[in-house]
Formats: sequence, C-alpha cells, structure tokens
Amino acid sequence: MIDYIVVGFGLSGLAFVEELKKNNKSFLVYENYSQKSSRVAGGLYNPVILKRFTAAWLASKQMELAIPFYKNIQDKLGKPLVYELPVLRRFNSVEEQNLWFEACDKPILRTFLSSELIRNENKALDIPFHYGSVKGTGKIDIKKMLSLYVLDLEKKELLLNESLEHNKLVIENDFITYKGLKAKNIVFAEGYGVINNPFFNYLPLQGNKGEYIIIKCKGLQLKEAVKSSIFIIPLGDDLYKVGATYNNQDKTQDITVSSREQLQMKLERFLKVDYEVVDQVAGIRPTIRDRRPLIGTHPEYENVHIINGLGSRGILIGPYVANKLFDFIENKRPLEKEIDIKRFENLR
Ligand SMILES: Cc1cc2nc3c(=O)[nH]c(=O)nc-3n(C[C@H](O)[C@H](O)[C@H](O)COP(=O)(O)OP(=O)(O)OC[C@H]3O[C@@H](n4cnc5c(N)ncnc54)[C@H](O)[C@@H]3O)c2cc1C
Repeated sequence: MIDYIVVGFGLSGLAFVEELKKNNKSFLVYENYSQKSSRVAGGLYNPVILKRFTAAWLASKQMELAIPFYKNIQDKLGKPLVYELPVLRRFNSVEEQNLWFEACDKPILRTFLSSELIRNENKALDIPFHYGSVKGTGKIDIKKMLSLYVLDLEKKELLLNESLEHNKLVIENDFITYKGLKAKNIVFAEGYGVINNPFFNYLPLQGNKGEYIIIKCKGLQLKEAVKSSIFIIPLGDDLYKVGATYNNQDKTQDITVSSREQLQMKLERFLKVDYEVVDQVAGIRPTIRDRRPLIGTHPEYENVHIINGLGSRGILIGPYVANKLFDFIENKRPLEKEIDIKRFENLR
C-alpha cells in the first residue's frame, strides 16, 4: 500500500508532491493534461495587486515560503527556472502616481513598493507619467519546471500519464483502491478539472479563462516586466508574453480571435514599434467567488482530500496551502476557516 495518490500535476500537485517527498511519504501521480492553467501562466510572482495598489493575501508569508521552495526545485532539477525580474507599473495619470505614494506609506506595502519614480528611457514605449517599481518580484518558467519534474517522476515510475477515472475509485474506511492499487489517501489537485469530480463538484469553483499572445518585437529591448492595463513579460530572444485576459463566461480552453484583438489593442496604446504575434495560449484559472483556496477533506470520506482554488496567484499560494493540507491530514492541525472547504458544506 502506498501513502498517497495525487491527481493532477499543475502548481498545486507539484507543491503537494514536494510536501510528500519532504516527509518521506510514498505516492503515485496521475496527470492527463486536460487542464493548462499552470502551463500557460505568466509565471510572475508579485506580492502586490497592481490594479488597486494593495498587498495580495498573506503576501509576505507566502513569499518567504515560495521563493526558497522554487529555488530548491531549481537546484534539484539542475536547470535555470527562477529569475529575478523587476515589475514596473505604468501610471495612467498624476492621480495614480499620488495613489502609489499613498500606498508606499502603508506599513504592509512599504517593503514591496519603491517610492522612487522611474523615468522611462525606452523609446519603444509611451510612458507619460513614469513608472512605480515593485521590489522582490520575479519570474518562474513553470512550463519547463513541470516538464522536467514530470520526466524525473516518470523515470522513478511515480507518475502515470493518464486520467484518474473517478468512478473506478473504491473508498474503504482506512484506504482507497484504484485499479488494483491501494493507497491510504487520495489528493485531488485537478484545477478547473474538478468540475468533473463527483466528490468535489459541489464546490463553487467559478473558473476564469485567461489568454496571452506571444509577440516578437526586436525594437522593444525590454528587460523588466511592464504592467499597464496588461503585462508585457520578457521571455528572451525578442519574445514577450502579453496579457492576460480575464473571462468568466467562456469555459473552453481554445484561443480566440477576440482576445487576440483585445490584447493587441491594449498593447498598441503604449507600444510604439512594429511587432508580430507568433503564438497565443489559453487556460482556465481555478477561481472561487471569495478569492480563497479550497483546501480540506471530503465531508464523508476522511481519506479523500482536495487542494484547489489557487486563482490567479498559484505560484505564491501553492506551497503555502500544500503545507497546510499536509499538516492537516498527517498531524491533525486544524485548517484556517478561510481556506477550509468546510465553509461550503451547505452547498452539498
Ligand atoms: C493565463 C493565465 C496566466 C496566469 N498567470 C499567473 C502568474 O503570472 N502568476 C501566478 O502566480 N499565477 C498565474 N496564473 C494562475 C495559476 O496558473 C493557477 O493558480 C495555477 O495554475 C493553478 O494550478 P493547479 O495545479 O491548481 O491547476 P492546473 O494547472 O489546472 O493543474 C491541474 C492539473 O490536473 C490535471 N487533471 C485534472 N483532472 C485530472 C484527472 N481526472 N486525471 C488526471 N489529471 C487530471 C490537469 O491536466 C492539470 O494538469 C495564471 C493563470 C492563467 C490561466
């Protein structure tokens, strides 16, 4: 009998598997590549909500845990995956500049926001009211990290590239059986795919589709990520990720012409040189109406668990909640109410 079956290997599956390894637990992962959220993500870690100049939920605590967490994976996988990357916020008006200064004075934001305005020297960009800069930001090559990690798990026969079929699970009191495999616990880390999971599809996962275009732009020569109404994120070799969109109506994972046009229109408001769209990607963020993760154990089955609801900030939230879930299952340390799926028990 193994300790855990883990279903899904995006950012939440990865974070939970790291907990299992750290604690010498045996496990097997199932991944069917039906969801793409982690693999298409921008990869930015940034403790500040740049629309409103507020700190993200538990930003300091999550940063402290997450950055060493990903650097440790980078070291183990032996390839560059984590990059420091300044994030510059383009101001649209003097009023916005003033709001930025006010935010810089708030104790919770002081460590993250620089009060020194940055003048734009890049002729390819129209930046009339300067930039504000965020401290401690960076980028993770999530796609590469996940695929290198998967290769390693496959080599050790710890991951199967197949769907976990929920209707073939047999849940006993002390263990689970799945196609002849016995496990003490199962953890679902399925992202938006949880809507097909009969154990947890009562949870109010909304889903929010996001699309990026990838552009090639020789004239831009940008070293930092720039945030205006959209992000421009440098990828190297004159390539940039531009986006993302937010759409809570369309639940397909297809790229759309309307999103490409919308992103290009926003980009051209401040990019003043020629560029070419070379690719486009789409995925569904696992979002919840109260903007908090979905962590916990099934109300009826004590060996069936979930880690989900990482929303639009999976990089920082993942390691934090994986640690909470593991501690809850193995050490019976209670979960905070705001992340516990118990808050939605009335929806069953
Ligand atoms: C366009 C976009 C941009 C984003 N940018 C950022 C960013 O810059 N920074 C940031 O922190 N966050 C970002 N996010 C959010 C972040 O990507 C998510 O929070 C994160 O991906 C959620 O991870 P997850 O593992 O819960 O879900 P997913 O990444 O969806 O992973 C779930 C996995 O489970 C697998 N699966 C599902 N069902 C089954 C089954 N039955 N059997 C086997 N496998 C199954 C799926 O194939 C998938 O691989 C972005 C998201 C999008 C869409």
